[in-house]
Order: sequence, then structure tokens, then C-alpha cells
Amino acid sequence: MRLSTRLIHGGIEPDPTTGAIMTPIYQTSTYVQSAPGKHKGYEYARSQNPTRAVLENALAGIENGKFGLCFSSGVAATDAVIKLLQPGDEVIAANDMYGGTYRLFTKIFEKFGIRFHFVDMQDLNNIRAVINEHTKLIWTETPTNPLMNIIDIAGVASIAKQYAVLLCVDNTFASPYLQNPLDLGADIVLHSATKYLGGHSDVIHGCLVMNDTGLREKLYFIQKSCGAVPGPQDCFLVLRGLKTLHVRMDRHCLNGEKIAHFLRNHPKVGKVYWCGFEDHPAYAIAKKQMRGFGGMMSFTLKDDSPENTTRVLSSTKLFALAESLGGVESLINHPASMTHASIPREERIKNGLEDSLIRLSVGIEDADDLIADLEQAL
Ligand SMILES: *Cc1c(COP(=O)(O)O)cnc(C)c1O
Repeated sequence: MRLSTRLIHGGIEPDPTTGAIMTPIYQTSTYVQSAPGKHKGYEYARSQNPTRAVLENALAGIENGKFGLCFSSGVAATDAVIKLLQPGDEVIAANDMYGGTYRLFTKIFEKFGIRFHFVDMQDLNNIRAVINEHTKLIWTETPTNPLMNIIDIAGVASIAKQYAVLLCVDNTFASPYLQNPLDLGADIVLHSATKYLGGHSDVIHGCLVMNDTGLREKLYFIQKSCGAVPGPQDCFLVLRGLKTLHVRMDRHCLNGEKIAHFLRNHPKVGKVYWCGFEDHPAYAIAKKQMRGFGGMMSFTLKDDSPENTTRVLSSTKLFALAESLGGVESLINHPASMTHASIPREERIKNGLEDSLIRLSVGIEDADDLIADLEQAL
């Protein structure tokens, strides 16, 4: 089956007891056993839930993986991956990524003795320069947030293989519709399903997808032992979101392209960061590993004073000023004070994230209405 069909039918069977076409929300904490230890595969809902199981299978299918595991949020899924490690282990992570991931690594896990090296992965030599016998995991995100840099997943995977190090790719920005990291050699794919997978800004949810049975066992053990599992209602909402992912992503890509070019040609706009421009430094890699460029982009203003930046951020009407991304409605965000405020300013500036940067999550409204909204705000 092709992806569009798998998004709707993959891993989903009518409910065996009633024939309900939609997966029921199994709102239960426990399951009755016929004799001690004799059950139908479900014992206690932290460990297993039928709504969650259907979603986990569906997610595995659309990421071309064997196993899916769901978590109560994207960061809970990240947390589970780092819990594979021991004190003394080292992680090489991308220097331009989701602020909450950086905060989790530096503020929570460093104090447990795990060391993180943040490097610019656009140049793979920067990974080779810090890899050593303690390195156990490489963590990357592409396109990067918020600068829309592109990391060569297959290139990073070949280094990970050479040194027998795990590679986890946060695929939230691209979604499985545009990019499949497992096919490019990653060991684990992570999604904040809060974003494109859910797609309607109404749920917080995260997931991991992998192929290796041993890795699945370890991560399942962490999932049930640490307990950051999603409720069945949240799993239902993500299942419902998946069914329209392809249709939504096509429109996100179309609108994204129109708006990126509009911004680039606008006299008041400075730099535009979007990975679909043919002169993007890694356009060739983006073309190779992605099937489209999505609806995420960032830009600066020619007058990049704090006053002018704030004025534009506060002047859009369709683009709502809010954190998050990937929903049907368009959002505008100021990374320095919002999504990336948890990264120290000095670090942000060093990595090229200026205080004047504005990030857009282009939704699936009419592109001309969105352009008119940006025009009046500018
Ligand atoms: C939002 C986000 C996360 C964290 O996910 P939550 O669901 O908010 O916990 C991780 N990575 C990326 C790229 C994100 O955008």
C-alpha cells in the first residue's frame, strides 16, 4: 500500500467486538483476567491500551518501521531515548534544534552524568571531531528549528554505523509524509505528534518508531517503567489526525512555497530561511531526502530593531502569535522569547539565531489571505 492509503487504513481494523469503523477510546485502567495470569494481552493500562496499540502500529507503518511507542508528549519520548544511556555516556546533538530538547539535555540529564556535545551537523566533520569511545547516541533534527538548515541524514547514519552509535532523528518538522529517516539509516525516529501528525492543535503527544526488536524491548521497558504514556483519548485524536496528514501536508507545502517567495521578494524583509529555495546551501540534500519542503520558515526584517520586530509579530490577524506548529491554522512566533527562550542568549547568537528572527508555521488556509495578512503587518 502507498502512504496515502496506509495513513487511512494502516494498522487499523474495525473493532472486533462491534465492528465500529473508528478505533474505540478504551477508557480503562485495568483488564479482567479469567484466571491469574490468563488475559488477552492487556493487564494494566500503563503497560498496554488497545487504542494506543492501534496508533503505535499505524505510526510504525507510516514511518516504514516495525515498532511504534507512544508517549504523553514529544519531550517524554525524548526523555525515554536518553534513559537508554548510563552516567559517563556521551551524546552528540545538533546545535540548532527544539529548545525543549536542549533544556532537557542540559538541565535534567547533564546532572545525571550524561555529557552532551552540541555541534553544527551541516558539516559532518564536526561529528567526527568529537566522537569517542564514550559516545553512545547521535541526536539530530532536520530541517532544523528555527533556522531551516538541512542535515544529511544518510551521511550522519554512516558515521553512526561506523562507530556503532545509535542515531535518533527528530522528524517532527518534515512529518513522515515528507521524510522517512529509518530508510536513510536512522535507528529511532521521534515525533512530537502535537504538531503535524495530530495537526489540529488539540493534543500533546509524542512517539518513537524503530526496527530493532532489542531496542523496542528496551524502550518499551522504559515506557512502562517511567509511565509517561498518553491517555486513550489523546491516542484517538492522533489517529484521527493521521488520516488527513497527506492532504494537509500537500497544502502546507503549497502555501509554504508561495509565502516563502512572497517574503523573499518583499522590500521590508531581510533574510528568509526556507529549505525549498534552490540557493539554500543544502538544497541538493533536501531534494534527495525530502519529498516536499513543508510549511515552516523563518525570516528577519530589514529594520530588525526590537520595536519593529515586535510590531510585526503583534500585527498579523490570521497568523496567531503562539508557540507550536503544524496545525491547520497559521502561527507566527518569536523564537528568542518564545520557543527558544530556554537556550541561553549567547548560545543562540553563536548558532545564528538572532533576536530579530520571526518563525512562521504556515497553515492550510487560502494562501492569498495569508499573504494579505503578512502584507498588512509588514
Ligand atoms: C514541539 C517539539 C518537540 C516537543 O514536543 P512536545 O509534544 O511539545 O513535548 C520536540 N521536537 C520538535 C522539533 C518540536 O517541534
